Amino acid sequence: MSYDVIFIGSGPGGYVGAIRAAQLGLKVACVEGRETLGGTCLNVGCIPSKALLHATHQLHEAEHNFDAMGLMGAKPKPDWKKMLAYKDDVIGQNTKGIEFLFKKNKVDWIKGWASIEGPGKVKVGDTVHAAKKIVIASGSESSPLQGVEVDEKTIVTSTGALELGKIPRKLIVIGAGVIGLEMGSVFARLGAEVTVLEYLDRIIPGNDGEVAKTFQRLLKKQGMEIITGAAVQKAEALKTKAKVTYKLLKDDSEHTIDADTVLLATGRRPYTEGLGLDRLGVKLTDRGQIATDRHYATSVEGIYAIGDAIEGPMLAHKAEDEGMAVAEILAGQAGHVNYGTIPGVIYTWPEVASVGETEETLKDAGRAYKIGKFSFMGNGRAKANFAADGFVKILADKETDRILGAHIIGPYAGDLIHEICVAMEFGAAAEDLARTCHAHPTYSEAVREAALACGDGAIHA
Ligand code: NAD
Repeated sequence: MSYDVIFIGSGPGGYVGAIRAAQLGLKVACVEGRETLGGTCLNVGCIPSKALLHATHQLHEAEHNFDAMGLMGAKPKPDWKKMLAYKDDVIGQNTKGIEFLFKKNKVDWIKGWASIEGPGKVKVGDTVHAAKKIVIASGSESSPLQGVEVDEKTIVTSTGALELGKIPRKLIVIGAGVIGLEMGSVFARLGAEVTVLEYLDRIIPGNDGEVAKTFQRLLKKQGMEIITGAAVQKAEALKTKAKVTYKLLKDDSEHTIDADTVLLATGRRPYTEGLGLDRLGVKLTDRGQIATDRHYATSVEGIYAIGDAIEGPMLAHKAEDEGMAVAEILAGQAGHVNYGTIPGVIYTWPEVASVGETEETLKDAGRAYKIGKFSFMGNGRAKANFAADGFVKILADKETDRILGAHIIGPYAGDLIHEICVAMEFGAAAEDLARTCHAHPTYSEAVREAALACGDGAIHA
């Protein structure tokens, strides 16, 4: 069989790209070695973790807010096995959904692990498939950390954390990034004693510093212990528990703590094993990512790459957008991704969402900006729903009022951020958002109020 394009990997980059390419009239196949389509995101990442975050958030609501609303009765107790079955059912529905979409769009699923024999040749098992173009969308894997031996039972990555045999009594999380805090939240809500060890002097590096401070305070209030400035040196699985040794950077003192389970969440790296990139001479960046030009072309003619395997934030939606863009480029259109408006979301409670510049990046660049900030305390809906922790912060150009970035910590921040993404995509000023009518009572009024605060002032502050 000969194809116009073969995508390697069926994660959000590969499957979305394959569907778009087929919609644009190309003959497309997608190679996937897992039993199900959807990659890390659907099988062992975004989707299963969101199911567990949803279930445990409901538990938290029942434990903390039901009485106050006049909802009395026995408190629900978590049944971990049943919760995992719910999570697996959600995964199944989604992965089958992609299989259906492949059939609907006439994308062939080539089952197995691919290697690239040369431009235009993809080998899967004993068969070599011909393709005019090849797109690598092979994703990423958990980065190893020296001294930490992952066994996916006692010392786990996010993959093992989604399949634990039981709820740990004590959990140590290495790394206060997105995975560590999302999964840490899940187990803290289920009653585990959670300690997070973070190398830097702050959590969620790269995010707005003020948001990070508020977030750390709220997580602490929820019972999570966060130790910053802690360099983990060793994690060992003993017979019945695990032992973690770390050094406090402030005084070089060494400490040891025990737990039932240790979650390693110190970042991910591109997964390109077995593709034969060395042999083909595909150039990599200094950080081991596949180097591409603005059209996702690698250094080898006819081979393209997208998603976590290349530069940029390791986010499912960034990969999806690159999948669509590369499909359009291969179909002769002008595919394009605006990297300045890609949102980042942390799905804890409250959620954290951001887009564009932070105060830190604007200061570094010496740009003049103004801040419009609004607390959810002034939002009626948030008050009614026990969700008034957090704020919306909009950064706008001091002279032109053009929105440069936004940072939200609060209820459904991950949904609220998108009106600001759209505004930024259209080059809007904060005044444009401020003059747009927002329904009352909604959380989104906090976004409008923050935009008003960039000008003559918020009303409810
Ligand atoms: P991350 O880069 O978000 O965070 C890793 C954290 O580990 C950082 O705070 C870092 O300073 C810390 N760290 C590194 N070495 C350490 C050490 N030796 N001791 C203590 N702390 C150390 O990485 P992650 O949370 O593993 O996530 C991996 C990738 O997956 C990220 O790119 C993330 O954006 C993506 N992801 C996104 C979502 C989402 O969008 N909601 C969810 C999960 C994962």
